[in-house]
Amino acid sequence: MGAGETILSIKGLHVEFPISIGTVKALQGVDLDIVKGEVMGLVGESGCGKSTLGFSIVRLLRPPGRITSGRIDYRGRNVAGMDEKELLRIRGRRIAMVFQDPLTSLNPLFSIGQHFVETIRTHDRAVTKSRALEMAGDMLESLGISRQRLGEYPHQMSGGMRQRIMIGLALVMRPELLIADEPTTALDVIVEAQFLDLLEELRGRFDLTVILITHNLGNVAQLAHRITVMYGGTIVEVAPAGDLFRRPLHPYTEGLLASIPNIRLDRPRLVTMPGSPPDLVDPPAGCVFHPRCPRAMDVCRRERPPSVSGDGRTVSCWLYKEVP
Ligand code: SF4
Repeated sequence: MGAGETILSIKGLHVEFPISIGTVKALQGVDLDIVKGEVMGLVGESGCGKSTLGFSIVRLLRPPGRITSGRIDYRGRNVAGMDEKELLRIRGRRIAMVFQDPLTSLNPLFSIGQHFVETIRTHDRAVTKSRALEMAGDMLESLGISRQRLGEYPHQMSGGMRQRIMIGLALVMRPELLIADEPTTALDVIVEAQFLDLLEELRGRFDLTVILITHNLGNVAQLAHRITVMYGGTIVEVAPAGDLFRRPLHPYTEGLLASIPNIRLDRPRLVTMPGSPPDLVDPPAGCVFHPRCPRAMDVCRRERPPSVSGDGRTVSCWLYKEVP
C-alpha cells in the first residue's frame, strides 16, 4: 500500500486556537502522505490533534481555530490556500467527512430525502429535485435501507441507520477521499461491528481512500492498512498496521498498545499510561512526550526529535537515528 499514488500530502501543518488564556498549539508541524486506496487509521488520546487534522483537511475548523502555516496538497492543489469557491469544488465532491454524532449532524426538521436533495443540489444546481431523490434512493438501498424511508425524519431511525445515512450523504457525490471522525462512538458494539464491515465494503465499491480517526485501536486493527499515531499535536509514528501492532517503535505507541484491555491476560488491574496529556497552550520543550516517557534522556527535554523514515515506517524519537 505504501508504494501507491499519493493523493494527499500534508507538510509542516500548524493549527492554532487563540483562547482567553493563550494560544492552543493544536497541530505543531504535521507531515503526512495519504496513498490512494488505503485506509489510514489516525489514533491517539483525546486532544492529541487527530480530529483537528481531519477538520483542517476539509477546512472546517471551528473559529477561532486557524491554519497558521503549512500545506495540504490534494492532487497537487493546496487546500490550505483555497478560497470558499474553490473549496466547494473539493469539499463534499472530492473529499468528504463523516462526523461523530449523526443525531446532531442531521437536521431534525428535514426528512432524509430533503437532506440528500440539499446536499446534492448544493454541489450541483443542475441536478433536478426528482433526480436528486432518485440518487438518494439508490444510495439508501446500497446502504441496506429501503428507499421508502426517504420521507422519514432522523428521529424515526435507529442510531446505526442514522450513521449509515450520514455516510450515504458523504458518498452521494462520489468523493475519492472519506474522512471518518470517530464514526462509531455513538453506536453499541454490535452495530459498530456492522458499520465497520459496511465501511470496508463501501471502500471497495466506491473506490475510496479512507482516513479513519478513532481512539479505538480495535477499529483500526480491523480496517487500517497503515496507522498514524498522534500525541500532543504531533505525529510520533506512522507504520503499516501489522508492523505497528507487532513491533511498536515509539514509547508512546508502546504505552498505548500496552493499555488495551486483554481478557486472555491474567492482569488484576488495567494498565494505564502514567501522567496526563500535555497542556498545548504551554507545551513541554523538546519531545512533547518527555514528561510521561519512561525512556526520556537529557536531549529529549531540550530538543524536539527529528522524524526518521525507512522500510515504510516513520518515527519521531531520539532513540532512533534510523528505523531499526
Ligand atoms: Fe521518550 Fe525521548 Fe523518545 Fe520522546 S524522544 S519518546 S522522551 S525517548
